[in-house]
Amino acid sequence: MTPAVLFLLFLSVMDVCLSAPAEVKNLTDEFTDSVPRPKLDIKIPVLHGDIAVPDTFFKNADQCTARGCKWPKSGLYVYVPYYISPYFSRKEQSIILRGLQSFHQTTCIRFIPWDSGVRDYIYFFSQPNSGCWSYLGRQKGKQCISLEKNGCVNYSTVQHEILHALGFNHEQVRSDRDKYVRILFDNIQQKQQYNFRKVPTNNLRTPYDFNSVMHYHKYAFSRNRLPTIEAKSDPNLNFGNAQEMSANDIARVNRLYRCNTSSRLQYAKHADAQH
Ligand SMILES: [Zn+2]
Repeated sequence: MTPAVLFLLFLSVMDVCLSAPAEVKNLTDEFTDSVPRPKLDIKIPVLHGDIAVPDTFFKNADQCTARGCKWPKSGLYVYVPYYISPYFSRKEQSIILRGLQSFHQTTCIRFIPWDSGVRDYIYFFSQPNSGCWSYLGRQKGKQCISLEKNGCVNYSTVQHEILHALGFNHEQVRSDRDKYVRILFDNIQQKQQYNFRKVPTNNLRTPYDFNSVMHYHKYAFSRNRLPTIEAKSDPNLNFGNAQEMSANDIARVNRLYRCNTSSRLQYAKHADAQH
């Protein structure tokens, strides 16, 4: 075999997502500050901290879901193929699977093991310093979700990154956020300020939710240990520490994907039957 062919073979089995940027969310400030930006082979813009955005167009839940970044529905269910890198330990794999299964119990999303003949799928991987991030909505082909072993493999982060892949943005950038929070730009690290720009989202008739698993914490990307986000109703309110999806997070999935919520019991039964 020629060296070129060998190189291509090598690339095909590598556990990497070469074009992936990395930022960190849902971690402590200490961890966030200690994670350097990895050197990337391909530079693409990063939006909202842990969302990777292709360099061709800007996306948010509303615009992208209207343009086809939703995962397709087949009958009652939305099937999303996934592959979990074997570099995760059995324990880490079981945490990721538990995150996937939580959608089976509450929504019409069904994660199914990837079959090599299927084009679009989610690929969970981890690399040193890769951070936790996901693309926003369905991409074309292999779509990476980074769950760095050191800090990202936990139930709420798995749910958070999957929600990005399903088309959802962070709570504190949604279109009506100015009614509920004050963004304290003076306290935000300058290079991270773009993470707090408002997005014209489709909020799917759900209220602003401080308990959403998609909400940043009060001190996210602080440059001076002072809050970067403040609740207008109560400056002392603490938020952004959700341990799991809120009822609103679940309602949004069901509305965006037009799940038949009267079949919710049926979804749970279906999930039980599979395991
Ligand atoms: Zn995020």
